[in-house]
Amino acid sequence: MTNVDNQSFVIPRRVDAAVTRALREGLSAAGDEIEERLSRGCAGGNAGRAEWALRNATLDGRPFSFERHECLRGIYECGAAHIVIEKAAQMGGSVFGILDALWALDTGRARRAVYFFPTARDMDDFVRDRVKPFVSGSPRLAARARGADNVHYLQFVNGDGAVDGSLYFRGMKSKVSTASVPADLIMIDERDKVTTADYELAVKRLSHSELALQREACTPTISDYGIDAAFERSDMRFWTLKCERCGTENQPERTFREDNGPDRVLYERGGEVYLGCRKCAARLDAAAGRWAADWPGREIAGFHLSQLYSQVIQRGRPVQAAILDDFRNTRCMADFWNSRVGFPYEDSAASLTAESLNACDGGYPMASRGVSCSMGVDQGNELHAVISDRQQNVRRVVWAGILDRFEGLDALMRNYDVRTCVIDGMPNKHSARDFASRFPGRVYLCRYQRGARGGAMWNDSGGVVAVDRTESLDASAGDYQRGGVRLPRHPLIEDVFKPQMRNAARRPLRDAAGEITGYEWVRRGPDHFRHADSYCRLADTRGARDLGSILAGVGTAGSRTCAPPESGSREPDVQIGTGRDDMKSW
Ligand SMILES: [Zn+2]
Repeated sequence: MTNVDNQSFVIPRRVDAAVTRALREGLSAAGDEIEERLSRGCAGGNAGRAEWALRNATLDGRPFSFERHECLRGIYECGAAHIVIEKAAQMGGSVFGILDALWALDTGRARRAVYFFPTARDMDDFVRDRVKPFVSGSPRLAARARGADNVHYLQFVNGDGAVDGSLYFRGMKSKVSTASVPADLIMIDERDKVTTADYELAVKRLSHSELALQREACTPTISDYGIDAAFERSDMRFWTLKCERCGTENQPERTFREDNGPDRVLYERGGEVYLGCRKCAARLDAAAGRWAADWPGREIAGFHLSQLYSQVIQRGRPVQAAILDDFRNTRCMADFWNSRVGFPYEDSAASLTAESLNACDGGYPMASRGVSCSMGVDQGNELHAVISDRQQNVRRVVWAGILDRFEGLDALMRNYDVRTCVIDGMPNKHSARDFASRFPGRVYLCRYQRGARGGAMWNDSGGVVAVDRTESLDASAGDYQRGGVRLPRHPLIEDVFKPQMRNAARRPLRDAAGEITGYEWVRRGPDHFRHADSYCRLADTRGARDLGSILAGVGTAGSRTCAPPESGSREPDVQIGTGRDDMKSW
């Protein structure tokens, strides 16, 4: 280790301030140099990433620099194998991703890198607008890299013309393109637009690499999901600004979140808006911060980037003025929190909160028997069942529990006099069908059908109910929010049921232009009871059917079953499934 003998700087007792300052600056410069040498040493004697970028990259026709983007330097100097960036919009995450990959290949740290995008279209735009200018703008890269016109990869060639590195660009949507090519480094851009299955496939590319360098960056959408969940598992670094006047450490986006507003973050004085200290309101120098980790020592390095301390000037005003305008006038608060502050936004009107669930407490115990009930069952490794009856226009949950065998459902059907049961069709389709066949006319396999708006479609003879997934989950959430449900008093309800009910979150679906085209429910943890309860509600909407109508349904089903099979024992044309495979978000 380089040893700088700090003791050799002896500060005389009586020196003027200028000398002290010069000495301090000398010490600090020596420290910086050690740090830089260390990072270079670790990196095998080649240029560190920050230094490399400063030397080789151009951005918008100008040499790359950290000026006005001082917080980014810490990310470029980070040597962690796994880097997570949870960021507000336009904070340089993608630029870091591409420069990181180019640097790793150019300096021989990685032989193969893959840059992932949610879609092929995003990828084409990015390669044309961002990557090509980097390559053509740098004499070194222009001489080293081949294939910039090919949007799918870049090759690095050495002086002898031999290939010594490859950078692939891949859209996630195509399974074909996420398979194959192993890599030393992967960058996953726009993490929250990527399904968990695709994400896991991408990470698998690193399985044979000793380096296994992984980077992911995204503007968050909802909490504990995607990039936000990844950041929560990281060492959680925040850009920390010390107030020169009172010494208070400021992390502006956290204060903003605490206050649910800008009162102790953005100040207006004489028509001017500035970023200020949460305690004394003195102006903060956004450039003079340091990265402070909540969990130093954790393996994943996580950086949080917010526009609150951006030094960008927009139409002659600091971006802080635009942020304040936006906060006061925006119609889309979710966008404001995600894109400006860099935090997820919880739409309390859509997702279920602890308060709305607690408001449905009925104070009665779980029942061991019931009359004329409805049941919903979600299947996975275990079976989650919810049973309710209906009293004075309120759906009253009488029992909820977890079973490990389908046979256990039979006793529930009898003990609670279940008139209608809706069960998840997957993954054990045969067990579900067998169960249904033991209770003809009373059990329906649920099929989620995209766009099947306007209520459930019951197929009595097939024992299938088709429903739009979002519509169904919206409806069951709405019942709780309106107080149309009662829950029994039981530890399972408090410790398992309610947390699982909150583990499903609603978020907007957007098209390529960013316009909202619909909504979807994604899981951010186990959410079996959320689905079981939604199936139970669906069963309940079928009404407390009398035995006559059930038997009528059985008659129809029976006659069809007895008819000779038309073409073998054909499954229904439409596949039964929950459609939730792409929703297994975490
Ligand atoms: Zn202060």
